[in-house]
Amino acid sequence: MSGYTHRLYKQHLACFACRKVWRQERLDSESAPLCPDCHQPLTDMGKDFKAPRRNATAQWAKAEALVKNGIRFSSLGTSGTIPQRLNEVEAFVEARAQSAAEQAAASERYERQRAKEQRLAEVWDRREQQRVRQYQKKLSRPAD
Ligand SMILES: [Zn+2]
Repeated sequence: MSGYTHRLYKQHLACFACRKVWRQERLDSESAPLCPDCHQPLTDMGKDFKAPRRNATAQWAKAEALVKNGIRFSSLGTSGTIPQRLNEVEAFVEARAQSAAEQAAASERYERQRAKEQRLAEVWDRREQQRVRQYQKKLSRPAD
């Protein structure tokens, strides 16, 4: 990712205290900038974040809850639809964690299966080599 670190891009930086979004072009290697109004650190919401209206406090709380759970608005395309309401966030985060755990378990099963096949192949190889050695020994033995 080294080629990516100094690219300039437009960010949606949210201040949850002011319920405002600041669009800034900045280096993504910079640390989080501060809100121009209240000087709290801004949160990078990703480039696809759509800010709720200032008085939509539940929507802002929802966005904050999603971000705190590591859900970025630019990476949601592959992980299903974002919850519409604050009270859906918990279930959404849980389902995501569960599917991540299921994926991890599936890949572990796959790795175990592969390791088993690998061991079997090695055993097979050793037997084959043994058979070849025995055959060669038989060939080099002088005929009676
Ligand atoms: Zn602020």
